[in-house]
Amino acid sequence: MSELAYPYEAPASQALFDRAAAVTPGGVNSPVRAFGAVGGTPRFMVSGDGPYLTDADGREYVDLVCSWGPMILGHAHPEVIAAVQEAVGRGTSFGTPAEGEVALAEAMVERVAPLEQVRLVSSGTEATMSAIRLARGFTRRTKVIKFAGCYHGHVDSLLASAGSGVATFALPDTPGVTGAQASDTIVLPYNDLDAVHAAFAAHPGEIACVITEAAPGNMGVVTPLPGFNQGLKDACAADGALFISDEVMTGFRTSRAGWYGVEGVVPDLMTFGKVMGGGFPAAAFGGRADVMAHLAPAGPVYQAGTLSGNPVATAAGLAQLRLLDDAAYAKLDAVSAEIQALITEALSKEGVAHTVQTASNMFSVFFTDGPVRDYAEAKAQESYRFTAFFHAMLAGGVYLPPSSFESWFVSTAHDERAVQRIADALPAAARAAAEATA
Ligand SMILES: *Cc1c(COP(=O)(O)O)cnc(C)c1O
Repeated sequence: MSELAYPYEAPASQALFDRAAAVTPGGVNSPVRAFGAVGGTPRFMVSGDGPYLTDADGREYVDLVCSWGPMILGHAHPEVIAAVQEAVGRGTSFGTPAEGEVALAEAMVERVAPLEQVRLVSSGTEATMSAIRLARGFTRRTKVIKFAGCYHGHVDSLLASAGSGVATFALPDTPGVTGAQASDTIVLPYNDLDAVHAAFAAHPGEIACVITEAAPGNMGVVTPLPGFNQGLKDACAADGALFISDEVMTGFRTSRAGWYGVEGVVPDLMTFGKVMGGGFPAAAFGGRADVMAHLAPAGPVYQAGTLSGNPVATAAGLAQLRLLDDAAYAKLDAVSAEIQALITEALSKEGVAHTVQTASNMFSVFFTDGPVRDYAEAKAQESYRFTAFFHAMLAGGVYLPPSSFESWFVSTAHDERAVQRIADALPAAARAAAEATA
């Protein structure tokens, strides 16, 4: 589809996209931003304020992406901005230890009980890559179990059957990852404990770790079935493997203690990113102190980073975590539920088959009756209906994730005015979804 297929234009964004494409592959720095799955002109944003984004053409949108999760307090929250400005004024990077990184680690450890020690890094990808290396170094085993549709960043060994942008672009495997890098990865269907037990039986004493999204959001939101995460933990414990819960998306979002705070399953290692960075590149991995003790310089497993624990990023993350109290999570849950109800009402009225799935205040809409329990079921949805729905919402001033394989995110700044704009945009979008053809 060309942008001419849409009833409105975004000339300033299109001009920027053309400029970008000349100097950057595909015109973007992360694939899903290119609108490849939905077509049309990706919107270049110039500013954010609370629940709103404003694009280069001067149009304002209610933002239901929230930078893919980090902007949990909305854009340009005054207290976060003040903390950043104060930190920037003292210098932007020292390459030495500094108090801010200690304070952020302490705040994380205080909230998430299984987190005895953490190491700060700069992206979720680095966090999962390092956690896998540590698990292999600690267990002296090689194999890793992951689940189809779970995305753990663009780590070579974890790009087999990943969700998110990889799902959007339907790359079964990405060129550039060698057979050797992928050969120690065992990919299993999500929510299928029998498959996990069979894999452990087939490879006794060889599996270093099982890594899973704590509650997957990268194939759309697929809630773990009751007992699934505990079953993973038990299977790992029985074989001497480590259980890694990837909370890069869910951490400090789905509750004060992330998905751990919802389910209470104790992982050996956990990974974090997104919310904890307050919109800056900060991420972390951590967990059992005896495992973390294997990390350099305390132990032999090497891991490092020039900008790890960056003072501006840690100031932003800490300011954001301090503002995320019980009232904030209650607000997120309430506004998420309100928006979900509006979506269900609008789509039902037009007779569109759909299911809204949730993991606490994270949610997504699948264009199928559902339930969606794994990646195969997620892929079976009528994504062409989402494309029509997405563009009608965009025309109505609501910015959704530009793919049907992503979670939607709300912030504490989503107020009645923002919700009203969503409500106003929904009827036409539901009609467009109903009328869409494959
Ligand atoms: C976003 C995400 C990652 C990767 O984080 P980046 O900061 O984009 O590298 C890893 N795991 C999960 C579950 C994520 O949602």
